[in-house]
Amino acid sequence: MDVTSILKNLNAAQEEAVTSDKKHLLVLAGAGSGKTRVLVHRIAWKIQVDNVSPYSILAVTFTNKASREMRERIDELLGMSLRGMWVGTFHGLAHRLLKAHWRDAKLPENFQILDSDDQLRLVKRVMRSMDLDEQRWPPKQAQWWINGQKDEGLRSTHFQEGGDPFIATMLRIYRGYEETCDRLGVIDFAELLLRALELWKHNPQVLEHYQQRFQHILVDEFQDTNAVQYAWLRLLAGKVSAMTAVGDDDQSIYGWRGAKVENILSYERDFVGTHTVKLEQNYRSTSNILLAANAVIAKNSERLGKSLWTDSGDGEPIALYAAFNEYDESRYIADRLQSWVSDGNRREDAAILYRSNAQSRVLEAALLQAEIPYRIYGGQRFYERLEIKNALSYLRLMLNCHDDVAFERVVNVPPRGIGDRTLELVRELSRANTSSLWTAACVLVDEKRLAARASNAIAGFLQLINEMSGQLDELPLFEQAENAIQYSGLIEMHRREKGERGQARVENLEELIGACRNFEPEDKDLPTLPQFLDQVALDSGDRQADEDQDAVQLMTLHSAKGLEFPLVFIAGVEENLFPHKMSLDEPGRLEEERRLAYVGITRAMQKLYLTFAESRSIYGSESFNSVSRFVRDIPKEVIEEVRLQNTIARPTSYAASAIRSDQGDDTGFQLGQQVNHTVYGEGVILNFEGNGPRARVHVRFEQAGTKILILASANLAAI
Ligand code: ATP
Ligand code: MG
Repeated sequence: MDVTSILKNLNAAQEEAVTSDKKHLLVLAGAGSGKTRVLVHRIAWKIQVDNVSPYSILAVTFTNKASREMRERIDELLGMSLRGMWVGTFHGLAHRLLKAHWRDAKLPENFQILDSDDQLRLVKRVMRSMDLDEQRWPPKQAQWWINGQKDEGLRSTHFQEGGDPFIATMLRIYRGYEETCDRLGVIDFAELLLRALELWKHNPQVLEHYQQRFQHILVDEFQDTNAVQYAWLRLLAGKVSAMTAVGDDDQSIYGWRGAKVENILSYERDFVGTHTVKLEQNYRSTSNILLAANAVIAKNSERLGKSLWTDSGDGEPIALYAAFNEYDESRYIADRLQSWVSDGNRREDAAILYRSNAQSRVLEAALLQAEIPYRIYGGQRFYERLEIKNALSYLRLMLNCHDDVAFERVVNVPPRGIGDRTLELVRELSRANTSSLWTAACVLVDEKRLAARASNAIAGFLQLINEMSGQLDELPLFEQAENAIQYSGLIEMHRREKGERGQARVENLEELIGACRNFEPEDKDLPTLPQFLDQVALDSGDRQADEDQDAVQLMTLHSAKGLEFPLVFIAGVEENLFPHKMSLDEPGRLEEERRLAYVGITRAMQKLYLTFAESRSIYGSESFNSVSRFVRDIPKEVIEEVRLQNTIARPTSYAASAIRSDQGDDTGFQLGQQVNHTVYGEGVILNFEGNGPRARVHVRFEQAGTKILILASANLAAI
C-alpha cells in the first residue's frame, strides 16, 4: 500500500489537513467540503505513514451508521481490516468504558440503560413517592430539567439549598431519581456521558491508562458537542494526546439539546498550538444548490464566516413547487420520484426531508398509493408513535370496550391513579372468569371489591369510555377523535411536557385529528370509525420497505446531518412550519432554524426540490402560510417555479407575496439587533415586514412585550 493512494483525490487544503504534523488540528469548513473525508484519510495517514498503532486511535462520530462507514472507508484505504481502533458515538464509547470499569464507576456489573420512556416512568415513580402533584409538576418537565443539568455536568449535590421554589422541587426530584437509579442499577442516556466523565475524574489511574492509550483523538461534527462531551475530550487528551476536530459552525443544530457551538471557539484556546485549516471547495453539490445554501446562511449574524465554491457546473435549477395543499404536495413528490426511478436511478439515492415528524403521514400515504417503497430513517412511522397508539387505543375502546390490548395500554395513560396492584386484581379476575379486562373492572367496581380510591379511579375510566362511545353515532369521526384526545387528557399530558418532544407529540395528535377529518370511508353507509381503524391497521402493517430493498429515504432535517443524496426533496418550506412557529420569537432559535435550512439544502448533490403548500391542515387545523423566508432568500436566478396544468391558479407567485426579509435592507437595522425606543425602552428586533415608507418592524421589548412599529416613525436607536 503506497502513500499516494491515501492522498489521491484530495485537494491541497485537504492534503494539508490530512498530513499536518502539528499536534492539534481544527478543520473548520462548510458542508460537503470533505471534512469527514479528511478525518478518514488522516486516520489512514497516521497508521500508514506515521506508523501509529490503530490501538492508540479514538474516533468519535455522530451516529452509529457513520462509525460503521468510517471503519469501512479506512479499511478500504489501507486494504486491510483494522483491529483495536475505537470508533463510535459519544454514547457508545461511554457505554464501552463503563462496561469495562463498572466497579470504579460505582455501577453493578449488569447495569441497564434506560431509554427515554423508561426514564420518564421512573421519574414519575419517584415523584409519586414524594406525593408531588403531577398537574402542578409535570414529570416530563422534571425529566427535561434533570437531563439538562446532566448535560452541563451538574449533579444535585452541586446546587445550593434554598432559593427558587421551582429549582428546590426539581432538585428534590433529581436527588430522589439519582438514588432510585443507583438502587436499581440503571442509567439514562445523559448519565452515560456524565458517569464516564466522572469515572475518569475520580479514578486517576483509569484516566491515565486511557490517556496513554489514546494518543490520537479525532472528532467529527464537532459543532454539536455539549459541555460534558467537550470536558470528556479535554480530560482524555490531557497534555499528551493529539487532537483533530472537524466541524462547521453553520451546521450547529442541536443547541436546543445542550450542544455548544462555542466549543469551536474554546478549542483553539484549550488545545494550544492548534493548526486551523479551512476547506472551501465543495465536492457534493452543483453550483446552483451551493448558491442557494450560501445565500440562506449568509443571513445569519453569528457566524465565523466562510465561503464555499464548486467547479462542478451550474447543474439543474432548484425546483420550487407551490402545491395547492399537502396532498397535492405529496402526490407531486411521488410523481417526481416515479420518473426518477423510471429514468434508471436507484430509489435509495433519493431522500425526502421535512421539519416536523407529523409531515410524514401524508407523504407516506402518497408513497404507498404510488407503490414506491420507502424507509423512515431514524424515526418511527406515524401510526407507530406512542402518542398515536395511545389515542387509537381510546378509539378502539370506544368501539369495543372488550379490546384488552387497548385497555391495558391506556387504562392509566394519562395517569389517573390506577396502580399496578389494582390492575393486577383486574387481570386476576378476568383470568378467573375468562372475561375481558373491561368486564372484570366493572365487576370489581360494582361489587365494591376495591379500595375507595382505586375504585373511583377505575370507575372514572369506565365512565369516560362509556360516555364517548355513547356518542359514536352522533358525531363525525374527527370530533370523536378530538374528544378522545381531549377528554382522556392525552393532549394535555403532552402539552405539559417541556421541550421539542412534547411539542412534537401534541402536533402528532393534532395531525391525527386532521387524518380523521380527511378520511374517506369506502362505504358511506357504514359507521366510519371501524373503517378508519381498519385502514390504519393495514397502513401500519409491514409495508415499510425491507432492510435490503431499494427504498426512498424519509427523515427529518435533523437526522439528515452528514448524509448526502443525489436527489433531495425538502417538503413544507412554509413560514410557521419551517422556520417552525416555536422558533419565530427568539432570534437565537431562528438562527438555528436557518442553519437547519442550510443543512437541508446542502444534502443535495444533483437536484433539489423545494415544495410548499398554500393551504395545509397540519396539527389538526387548516392554515395558510406563505412560502418560507428561507426560500425567499435564494437568488431567483437559480430557482425554477414549477406549475402543473392541473393545479389551481394562484393569485401570487412566491416572489410577489409579502416580502419579509431578515434584513431591513436599507433600514440600517438587523434581525436580532438590540434597539432602544423612547417609550418602550430596550428591545430586540424580531422581524421586518414590507418595504418603503410602510415598512414595519417587530420588536420584542423587555418590559412592553412584542410591538409592531412603522419603521419610519418609530425612532429606534441602535444600542
Ligand atoms: P458535511 O458538512 O455535510 O458533513 P463534509 O464536509 O463532511 O460534509 P464529506 O462528506 O467528507 O463532506 O464530502 C462530501 C462529498 O464530497 C463526498 O461524497 C466526498 O467523497 C466528496 N469529496 C470530498 N473531497 C473530495 C475530493 N477532493 N475529490 C473528490 N471528491 C471529494
Ligand atoms: Mg461530514
